[in-house]
Amino acid sequence: MIKRIAILGSTGSIGTQALDVIKQHPDAFEVAVLTAQSNADLLVEQALQFHPSHVVIGDVAKYTFVKHALSGTAIEVLAGADALQEVVCYDHVDVVLTALVGYAGLLPTVKAIKAGKPIALANKETLVVAGALIMPLAREMGVPILPVDSEHSAIFQCLMGESHNPIEKVILTASGGPFRGKKREDLAQVTRAQALKHPNWTMGAKITIDSASLMNKGLEVIEAAWLFDVHASQIDVVVHPQSIVHSLVQFEDGSIKAQLGLPDMKLPIQFALGYPNRMQANFPRFDFKDYASLTFEQPDLETFRNLGLAFQALEKGGNMPCILNAANEVAVEAFLKDEIGFLQMSDLLANCMAQGTFLTSPSLEDYVNTDKTTRIMAQEWVSKLKK
Ligand code: NAD
Ligand code: MG
Repeated sequence: MIKRIAILGSTGSIGTQALDVIKQHPDAFEVAVLTAQSNADLLVEQALQFHPSHVVIGDVAKYTFVKHALSGTAIEVLAGADALQEVVCYDHVDVVLTALVGYAGLLPTVKAIKAGKPIALANKETLVVAGALIMPLAREMGVPILPVDSEHSAIFQCLMGESHNPIEKVILTASGGPFRGKKREDLAQVTRAQALKHPNWTMGAKITIDSASLMNKGLEVIEAAWLFDVHASQIDVVVHPQSIVHSLVQFEDGSIKAQLGLPDMKLPIQFALGYPNRMQANFPRFDFKDYASLTFEQPDLETFRNLGLAFQALEKGGNMPCILNAANEVAVEAFLKDEIGFLQMSDLLANCMAQGTFLTSPSLEDYVNTDKTTRIMAQEWVSKLKK
């Protein structure tokens, strides 16, 4: 049985690696849909190579270019954000891989679940924003949410065969990013280029900045709470600079299971797409001879405030993680444009969390509004700082 896959965000870091995995297993996977926001050239190139039935270009100004470039083929071209909500529902889509970045993943994921499509979830922001809505919906529809994030894939793998055993704790590992060991005063002046240099992983710009600020780990804490139904108090974060132990689960007898491997996102991507089977792969193997020691240390919550803010947002619940996420998306964009400094990103988040309108049990519409109003609030804050 060939699985036909819709990749939302096929031109990104996860998207292109997913296509590498699919290329290695032509007897197992086919591409049904490819989508990209603005990289029309790469989208066209991918479409010509993988022959999806449909492509979506988010930026409508690039529709004519894509349409023209694919005119000699049977590939249908759509444009705009709303098209994502349509393509995930097609009958011939067996799995939806959400490899797009940010809040934009929410509505297409909701639609895909309602259409009964299994989700291979890279887009952690969807669960951060609306895990309280997504997880019950997925359960109701009998749709699996298969984590692609390496930490969550690790936990998911540790939990296989353990469904009857309660989790005592999950332990998320973090590389610590490019600024591990630095103090607050060291971070006031760091540049965009320094923050974009991740020691172990090559990823899109947003998640790379999130990794430098430990926001990424904060978002992953919230993601883990929803995926594995654990309370904030059952989630620990440990810094592990080598990124070999991808995460761990502790059970009620005190026993801990971990999943290990070299840092290569193709591994968790392939695991999610191939689930429940482990498929043969030629990825380089981990060898203890290459690693004299694996080390672990506590995260520095004073320097990296975002991790603490994420725990606070999770404990508060309601739309607070949605506020945190929207504020962070604006903060990262502003930092990447050199409009605010590295430490000001945390100030912006804390401000929006303090001033946003709190809702205990938001509806989907409430999340959409919270995202919108928080972005306006965050943007005003950025404008004030720029003056
Ligand atoms: P990326 O920036 O490299 O790629 C993002 C993709 O999404 C691109 O194809 C882009 O065209 C598309 N996109 C961007 N904005 C969009 C929008 N508004 N609407 C629709 N499509 C849009 O990002 P990435 O590093 O591949 O990360 C994608 C997701 O996977 C993120 O949620 C990230 O947190 C998660 N993730 C990434 C990695 C990694 O190693 N890169 C690891 C774990 C989780
Ligand atoms: Mg991760």
